[in-house]
Amino acid sequence: MDQSESIYRHPTDDSIVLRTKPDRILHERRKLDRMLRWIRTCAGCRSCLPPIDRLCESCWRHLERLRNRGDWLRQEGYPFPVYSLLTWTDQNDAFVRPFIYSLKGGYAVAAFEKLINLLVFERRWQRENERPVFVHPPPSGSRADHSRLLALMMAEYWQAPLTELEWDSSSKIAGQKQLTAGERTRRRFLPALGEAVFSPATVTRVFVDDVITTGATAMAAYMALGNPERFEAWALICRPKLATSERF
Ligand SMILES: [Zn+2]
Repeated sequence: MDQSESIYRHPTDDSIVLRTKPDRILHERRKLDRMLRWIRTCAGCRSCLPPIDRLCESCWRHLERLRNRGDWLRQEGYPFPVYSLLTWTDQNDAFVRPFIYSLKGGYAVAAFEKLINLLVFERRWQRENERPVFVHPPPSGSRADHSRLLALMMAEYWQAPLTELEWDSSSKIAGQKQLTAGERTRRRFLPALGEAVFSPATVTRVFVDDVITTGATAMAAYMALGNPERFEAWALICRPKLATSERF
């Protein structure tokens, strides 16, 4: 029996199995991040005055003024609910762009903590509902694992299970006859650890990413999860103006 098989047999175990690994990663990242905050320069104003969690204190206050609040967290124009802390516009590009780039590399732990607090503070969860399952895209060469770190921290914040999706390069679902040829050739996700198969339909899947532009990645996750009834995408930054051009 391989590892995935045992997890498949115990559908509620995914939160337990996955929790040990995230905790260890976060612990190590936090230690290094807490040291680096005393020697970094601010991504916004180049200040060297510590502590700097990617941004200095005064730039965090600036970001606090820029962020979306209440209904403004909800981004329009996507086929499912998309919530974004910031909206990247031409007006705030000079500030937001270097900040976004500074979050890459997988060690922006304290910065992610602040952003997650801001993002989820106004996202209410009905008490009677089950905790959401967080889903994140896989790390790859061009994408460092900052999305994964963000998702780990989201899951930690909510004490909720986390699922990493894997690109399916071999297109195992090509057998689904209703798919068009174009859909078959598109890159796809496969749910890791069978989460999509076993979690109840009432549980919301929350796709986590740092930046959302066209929503294509979130859509791929949505389809890989079997078009779940409850699906949301949470992003730190939404950049609708880039909808037709390349990510970054
Ligand atoms: Zn600054």
